[in-house]
Amino acid sequence: MKSVIIQNPIAQSTFIRKVIDNHGLIVFPTETVYGIGASIYDPIAIQSIFTTKGRPQDNPLIVHIAEQSQLDELVTEVNMYAKKLMAAFWPGPLTLVLPKSAKVPSIITANLPTVGVRMPKDPLARDVIRAAGVPLCAPSANLSGKPSGTDFKSVYEDFFGKVSIFIEGGIPEFGIESTVIDLTSQIPTILRPGAISAEEIEQVLGMVIVSSSQAENAPKAPGMKYQHYKPFGDVVILDGPTPKLIEFLRNLPDQDAVFMGANEVCGDLLELPINTFALGPQNQVDVIARALYRTLRTLDNLKVKTIYTHTFSKKGIGTALMNRLEKAASRTISL
Ligand code: AMP
Ligand code: MG
Repeated sequence: MKSVIIQNPIAQSTFIRKVIDNHGLIVFPTETVYGIGASIYDPIAIQSIFTTKGRPQDNPLIVHIAEQSQLDELVTEVNMYAKKLMAAFWPGPLTLVLPKSAKVPSIITANLPTVGVRMPKDPLARDVIRAAGVPLCAPSANLSGKPSGTDFKSVYEDFFGKVSIFIEGGIPEFGIESTVIDLTSQIPTILRPGAISAEEIEQVLGMVIVSSSQAENAPKAPGMKYQHYKPFGDVVILDGPTPKLIEFLRNLPDQDAVFMGANEVCGDLLELPINTFALGPQNQVDVIARALYRTLRTLDNLKVKTIYTHTFSKKGIGTALMNRLEKAASRTISL
């Protein structure tokens, strides 16, 4: 299949529309991670998202819109919670789960009666939706089970010749997938932590909501049972103070292992023979979150077998960062 790279979706809207009319897929940047999108009204194109990614069919897709007015055709009810959250966080990395309308094909929602919708903040993402003329359903642009694509080169390598269009953007602002919140239960429930924290949401709603760890015990979406974000290397989280970490790593028999962590911790390991990959300053969890998937992919390309890392503060996006790290890891060792 021929793949075309586009920088300005609005200037190429006629071509984008033609691709959409022919069941084509479009890889595009958002402020969270890159997405691989299809028209929500095209079950053939949607099916090819699942096939191209190797994604399990029972893992629902998020619908992306460019304007709030597009929400009306997708859901049957926009409750007070949704109105408040849209006003506070849209456009942005927050996915609202609401009762779906009959117009939304069930292949998108894994047969659930609900649909997850968000309006991305990245103007390029909204421009490609406008150019397409329809909402786009899009999971992250990565082969299923791999870390999400957070730079153009990664997604191009994964999907060259497999999709019709690439929209070329930069490095996503957040680097971690959106927060998914279910607004159909009595108390709003975070199904997946993301860039918008539970505390920020609680402040806007003026109430305590159910957090993801509680929700994960009783999965609401079939997709939640999957272990995402698995790099090739074995990720091991070391939970303990830096001196203990140094002691553990000094006695490692495995010469092929690397360490990935905050700048300061990597600095403390300089005297050890282990190679280190610094993610960012310890007190800037957002910088670390932005670097995580890209670093895991770099380590994959280097065929690193074992990746040691440490725990991070769960403030703000830190909850999402630790959630993704724990999903990527095979185990945590308490030191
Ligand atoms: P991804 O596109 O890989 O970021 O994954 C999207 C995730 O959003 C899914 O795995 C679900 O956890 C969640 N999601 C999407 N749609 C729904 C829905 N209708 N109900 C509950 N969760 C959803
Ligand atoms: Mg994904």
